[in-house]
Amino acid sequence: MSSAYGIHWFRRDLRVAGNPALQANWKKHQGRVVGLFCFDPIFLSRPDFSPDRFRFFLETLSALKLELEELGSDLLVLDEGPDKTFQHLFEEFSRAGVAKPSLVTFNRDYEPFARERDARVTRLLESELGCEVLSDADHALVEPSEIVRPDKPYQVFSPYKRKWLEIFETETIQARVRRQKLGLEYLEKRAKGETPHLFHLTWSDLKNRSTGCLEKYQSSVVSRVPVPPAGSLAALAALKAFAPKVTAYGETRDLPAAQGTSRLSIYFKNGSLTIAQAIAYFGFSAVGPKDTSSRAKFLSELIWREFYYYILYHHPSVEHEAFQERFRDIQWENREDYFEAWKAGHTGFPLVDAGMRELATTGWMHNRVRMVVASFLTKDLLIDWKWGERYFMERLLDGDLAPNNGGWQWAASTGCDPQPYFRIFNPTLQSEKFDPEGAYIRKFVPELRNVPAREIHAPKNVPGYPAPIVEHSVQRAKALALFKGE
Ligand code: FAD
Repeated sequence: MSSAYGIHWFRRDLRVAGNPALQANWKKHQGRVVGLFCFDPIFLSRPDFSPDRFRFFLETLSALKLELEELGSDLLVLDEGPDKTFQHLFEEFSRAGVAKPSLVTFNRDYEPFARERDARVTRLLESELGCEVLSDADHALVEPSEIVRPDKPYQVFSPYKRKWLEIFETETIQARVRRQKLGLEYLEKRAKGETPHLFHLTWSDLKNRSTGCLEKYQSSVVSRVPVPPAGSLAALAALKAFAPKVTAYGETRDLPAAQGTSRLSIYFKNGSLTIAQAIAYFGFSAVGPKDTSSRAKFLSELIWREFYYYILYHHPSVEHEAFQERFRDIQWENREDYFEAWKAGHTGFPLVDAGMRELATTGWMHNRVRMVVASFLTKDLLIDWKWGERYFMERLLDGDLAPNNGGWQWAASTGCDPQPYFRIFNPTLQSEKFDPEGAYIRKFVPELRNVPAREIHAPKNVPGYPAPIVEHSVQRAKALALFKGE
């Protein structure tokens, strides 16, 4: 057997099942592959860093490490950033007289920071360290570079979705989905306790000091909210729990009290599950753009996610500014006291307050309510969407640049394909429509627990609950004037 081996560099593909780049490495080296994860100090010191999301990430890494160990490999977690890590590892191999790896693999990431990093690290590995590098598609089913248009990239969801569905039928994409079917079969076996001996190399075969920094972080990072079970087996369980609900998704997805959505976003974020796996699991094949079934609606939401990656990939500047040039200089009022009331769930608008308290106590918020609180922050409180975007990143367990930025710019009417600025959500009407009995509000706003449904959307003089901090009709007029530049 050859002694050649490979390293798989994990990033946001924290799973073994159907991991394309890991599989390529595994095939080339007949299972002689070890896993590596590098925390980046730049990332850990970001201002919107979330200890909650980090805790969940650590739990996911831990589950992955355990899985790799059981399969006969290992995961080394280091925290000097990938450039230094690879340099130091290669130096260490050379000092110890250990052959360097013949291949480093990774799955592609589409965020601006990651694209730059990957290009830099690839150059380092190929040109300076003399190692072959291979990357593959994983995080998006249809990669942003695969949806091409002769003049300029799509900016509106509907034509993008039509094109996506067309490409979805092609053999390239269907092959990706089939691969995930096999990945799911492997996962099902693991869920039953079967653990094949797939790998034949561990870090201690290569270097003496094989301990990483995972334990250090695990013992020091504390989450403010309970984190859900992590790892690909937990993701599979979440997928299965959602399966019986998918046929009612069209009716229930907008009702925050109904628990009708999948809650898969946290697993998609770090790749313990992928969109391709969800599609493979549900057996989505051809879905016409006009299909209005619940299953088609669910697929459509997955495509929304890919759309926001596509936008970020083709317009990386959205990370820092409004997509629409004409709305880059809006003179937001940015009142700190309003912002604090919004964050604390003390605005006097029950649905907004319930959503903000759900976020603070669970690290998650229902999509309809995310839209309502985002519209409220920007159009009722006249606060810059970037403030809200950042607060969401500090709090959401599924906080993810592309869909978060896309969601905020959509709600603030500054993005591609936005909600037009003259269509401003009325928070009270939204509440009446989507939480008619007030069940969601009562769950998160205990002060309103005994208020009857007909009064709960605009409660008056409830002890302990604030009066509305603004008047919607007045703020609406101000928002319209702001957007018109008056
Ligand atoms: P489901 O309804 O079960 O949907 C299935 C999947 O489709 C989701 O997991 C998600 O990947 C995708 N999806 C659903 N709705 C959207 C959408 N509107 N835009 C993009 N993808 C979607 N999603 C994140 O993953 N991370 C974020 O940081 C994030 N921030 C948001 C901020 C705002 C202001 C808004 C309006 C939306 C944001 N979303 C974000 C999108 C959406 O709210 C969440 O993906 C969804 O609520 C996750 O719950 P779920 O998995 O139960 O969704």
